[in-house]
Amino acid sequence: MLRRNAIASLLATGAWTKKVAWTKGIDRYFEGAHGTSVLVDRKTRRLMAAHAPELAGGSAVPPGSTLKPLVLNALLERGLVRADDAFPCPGDLRLGGRSFACSHPPLGAPVTVRTAIAYSCNCFAAHYASRFRAGELTRVLERWGLGSLTGWFGEHEGAGRVWDAPPQLQALGEDGVLVTTASLAMAYCRLASRAAPAVLAGMADAVSFGTAQRARVTGLKVAGKTGSARTPAGVYLAWFAGFTDGAVVTVMLQGRSGGADAAPIAGRILEAHWKGRL
Ligand SMILES: [Zn+2]
Repeated sequence: MLRRNAIASLLATGAWTKKVAWTKGIDRYFEGAHGTSVLVDRKTRRLMAAHAPELAGGSAVPPGSTLKPLVLNALLERGLVRADDAFPCPGDLRLGGRSFACSHPPLGAPVTVRTAIAYSCNCFAAHYASRFRAGELTRVLERWGLGSLTGWFGEHEGAGRVWDAPPQLQALGEDGVLVTTASLAMAYCRLASRAAPAVLAGMADAVSFGTAQRARVTGLKVAGKTGSARTPAGVYLAWFAGFTDGAVVTVMLQGRSGGADAAPIAGRILEAHWKGRL
C-alpha cells in the first residue's frame, strides 16, 4: 500500500471542516490505509457508520468492476442475457485502444453470469453489455441511483455522475460513470433487495472462492464484488461492495487490488457489525 495520501486530492469540496459524528468505531479497521467506507442497514437503508465521510459523500471516482453485478442484473431483467448463457472467455479484451484483459486464470469452462461475477470476467461483461441500446445503460445506472444523492450527509454531500459512453466501457466502470462510496452503497442496498439468483450466487461465490475471498467471515454469509480503478489523475483505487443479511458495506481506498486491499477491511467491518460491535 502506498504511503502518500493521494486520495485526499480527490476531494472536490472543502466544506467538510468539522469532525462529523458518523465514524462510530469504523476507523480502526483502516489501520492507516487511505480511503473511505460506509456501513448501511440493509432493510432501513439508514447510515450506520462511515469512515472519512467527507470522501464517502464527496469524491466521485470510477467504480471499476463493482458495477458488474448491477449491470448483469439489468441485462437479466431485460432478457438480454440468460442465467445459463455460456460464453467462452477469450481472455484478451481491447476497448478504445486500451487493454482490459481478464486477470482470472483459465476457467476450464465457458463463463456464465454467476462465474463472470465470481471471477470478475471483463470479456463476459463487455460482450453482453454491447446488447444495450444506445443510452440504455446510462438510464440503468441512473436508476440504481449512482448519480443521485443518498441524503446521508446532509448539505455536504456531492453526487456521482452518469453520462453516455460506450456500454462496454460503462459496464466495466471505466467510462460514463463516477460514483461516490455512498451512492454505490445505496445502489447495493437496492441490489440486495432484487438481485437475480445468478447474481446473488456469483457474489457469494466471489467471497467463498473468487476475487473477494479476503472478505470472508467464518459463520457469516457475505456476498460481494471487488473492483479496481484508476482516476484521471493516476490514483489507483481498490474497491469492495457487498452485503450480509443485515448490512451493506462499501470500501474504497488507495491501492492496486480490491481483493487484497479493500476486501479484508470490508470483512472486518461486516464481522464487527454482525457481532454487535458496530
Ligand atoms: Zn474473462
